[in-house]
Amino acid sequence: MIVFDLGCENSHRFEGWFSSSEDFEQQLGRKLVSCPLCGDANIVRLPHALRINKSAGKERGRTAADIERRQYANVGAENLTKLIEHIVENTEDVGPAFPEEARKIHYNESPDRRIRGTASRAEVEALKDEGIDVVALPIPAHLQGKAH
Ligand SMILES: [Zn+2]
Repeated sequence: MIVFDLGCENSHRFEGWFSSSEDFEQQLGRKLVSCPLCGDANIVRLPHALRINKSAGKERGRTAADIERRQYANVGAENLTKLIEHIVENTEDVGPAFPEEARKIHYNESPDRRIRGTASRAEVEALKDEGIDVVALPIPAHLQGKAH
């Protein structure tokens, strides 16, 4: 069994028990999951507080995200490098504070701006679960740690 922290559109939080993450996705897709407090069927998965703070390395059970395939595009390395350079020039490097800062910006606790930094896969998953849009950046070695 897997326990997921779930939330509805009315900001109620509750736990859902499922036999697997596939089972959860299926039930969610068929709107079989609803909020026990208000019956809302627009349910989202919330980040597991424990998982966010846990150091990476030990993986408990594979989730759908673990077997997710990475994305590729046939844009050519040069175009990609230009795009990355543009992103690097137009974002503030917050380093390992990225997940925390991205969350603060999302909840209007920090000034709205574009940032970049490092995050673990679990942290990125948690951000996405909260509706915070982040993308993985394949930053070339010569741009890594570049000050601006
Ligand atoms: Zn509710």
